[in-house]
Amino acid sequence: MDKLRVLNEYFGHREFRSGQEELIDHIIDGGDVLGIMPTGAGKSLCYQVPAIMLNGVTIVISPLISLMKDQVSALVTAGVSAACINSSLLPEEYYEVMHRACRGEYKLIYVAPERLGTQEMERLVSSIKIAMVTIDEAHCVSQWGQDFRPSYLHIAEFIRSLPQRPIVSAFTATATDTVKEDIVRLLGLHEPFSLVTGFDRHNLYFSVLKPKNKYAELKKQLDGFGDKCGIVYCISRKSVEEICDKLNADGYSATRYHAGLADAERRANQEDFIYDRKRIMVATNAFGMGIDKSNVSFVIHYNMPKNIESYYQEAGRAGRDGSPAQCILLYGPMDVRTNNFMIEKSREENDDLSDEEKEIMLERDKQRLKDMTIYSTTTGCLREFMLRYFGDKAQSYCGNCSNCVNGFEDVDITVDSQKIVSCVFRIKQKGRYFGKSMVIDVLRGSENDRLISLGFDKLSTYGIMKDVPVQTIRAEIDYLASNGYLCCTDDEYPVIELTPLSAKILKERIPVQMKLPKKTPRSKRLTDEQISVNDLLFMKLKSLRSKLASEAKVPAYVVFSDAALRDMCRLLPVTHDEFLNVSGVGKRKAEQYSDEFCRLISAHLSSHPDKKKYD
Ligand code: ADP
Ligand code: MG
Repeated sequence: MDKLRVLNEYFGHREFRSGQEELIDHIIDGGDVLGIMPTGAGKSLCYQVPAIMLNGVTIVISPLISLMKDQVSALVTAGVSAACINSSLLPEEYYEVMHRACRGEYKLIYVAPERLGTQEMERLVSSIKIAMVTIDEAHCVSQWGQDFRPSYLHIAEFIRSLPQRPIVSAFTATATDTVKEDIVRLLGLHEPFSLVTGFDRHNLYFSVLKPKNKYAELKKQLDGFGDKCGIVYCISRKSVEEICDKLNADGYSATRYHAGLADAERRANQEDFIYDRKRIMVATNAFGMGIDKSNVSFVIHYNMPKNIESYYQEAGRAGRDGSPAQCILLYGPMDVRTNNFMIEKSREENDDLSDEEKEIMLERDKQRLKDMTIYSTTTGCLREFMLRYFGDKAQSYCGNCSNCVNGFEDVDITVDSQKIVSCVFRIKQKGRYFGKSMVIDVLRGSENDRLISLGFDKLSTYGIMKDVPVQTIRAEIDYLASNGYLCCTDDEYPVIELTPLSAKILKERIPVQMKLPKKTPRSKRLTDEQISVNDLLFMKLKSLRSKLASEAKVPAYVVFSDAALRDMCRLLPVTHDEFLNVSGVGKRKAEQYSDEFCRLISAHLSSHPDKKKYD
């Protein structure tokens, strides 16, 4: 069977996405590959399609049990014989799976890396032909990635121990050069064909908000999403607990996830979210790597994460099925300090590294945090910033992020700049340097004890910006610093210093303009592509899907993704053949589901005779 037919018959997709076809072709030709594609790009198909086509079995090494379970049930529903081998199996299940595996009944076997060295595995690989070994989430092999797993280091050895070297394919969403080199070297890939697809995710709307009251803003955002589901990421276990409790008390359907919970509760909560029993998952960054839930409509970060890699990966869990989704970051300046604190702490806790390595890691982490802070405060296009960070080309206006959409205006801050720089100058005359907060306090005429005891209330700049909001002064200082008119050090106690350019502001009185958000932003959001979709029918399809999913004991999205249901609303199929045209419907799924779905759609059409088919 050729690859397009496999794509169509098993997975129900009409065409390959960018990058998929090339990777598949190289695998079929017998070469090793390394696929680097962002979360949601469709890496699984890149090895599942060839696995079906190759003569022999494909072993997929995957880091998380939940991830394997979902992938295997999705494959089985699509009519592909697959199984997983991990510690979650009961002894009888394990025996049964092994028995069938040894008889070569599966095309794909998902294995946890810890299992590779076991005797049963040795027996298995000596009794069947292994055509390919696939390593999913391959960055786990690198200490420089965010999710290092020591057991990944044994994969190369496992591959070497096989009677015949199979094709090796590796996939990850992490693109930095160090991680890439580690993957090739530590997994022992042979001159792999590497492919990095663009990092852009067109369907994601990015926004950064700087609310005074984060919790109130969170509720406002959640209300705006109706009954759609999503993830709220918090920086610590404690804040996960707090936010989740508050949301529940306020009547939201929320559950929680962090590494401090007992295994059983973590698993139960995760399932509540995946099976749509709870709408909101409040979690630390411990939640996510195994989550392939495709209908996550929003990812809200209650705190700024520690770097852009983490942010893009976490935010990228929204909209995996290609539907419009939102990634919202609630930024507060305290987030910078908390992250700095956590970076320092993790250095102390990391005993595996030499002092020199620790210093390098620390430097790197601080630089990454700085980049994340710049993202959170930039006035430019957010998508452009991120794509450039990952080395992609990008336009300076994407039209689908909060900065582009809300529009910015040029504001003349010449006079404010003079006041600010002169305040730093006056403080310096007292023989001291201070941080942003002190400069702002002096400018706004604060009466705090420290300020008074230092005699700063006697400075000529005391209180000269009384009427300007703190946020504005802060933004202006940041702007002056990022343009070299001031300098903001980044040691333990960051202070603001003058630079050679400061004189241009004070003496030459050069005009300074900066982009500030308009006072009343046009709050326009990306219009859902669902406009043409019949909401009522969508609801009916959803409830049919839930019924079928719960009968089959699988998550709803394993039956059909939201995108597939939306396509049904668009195409309104009423026959088996028409049903096959729906994106996400393959031969097997059509056989299984076309009757019930077509019946529902015909019934809907006859009770709404005015509904025509959409093009
Ligand atoms: P990744 O592992 O890269 O994060 P997945 O493999 O989980 O992404 O795929 C994400 C989503 O994209 C899935 O819902 C999958 O069905 C969908 N998808 C993958 N390839 C295609 C394709 N060629 N056409 C349509 N949808 C696709
Ligand atoms: Mg994946």
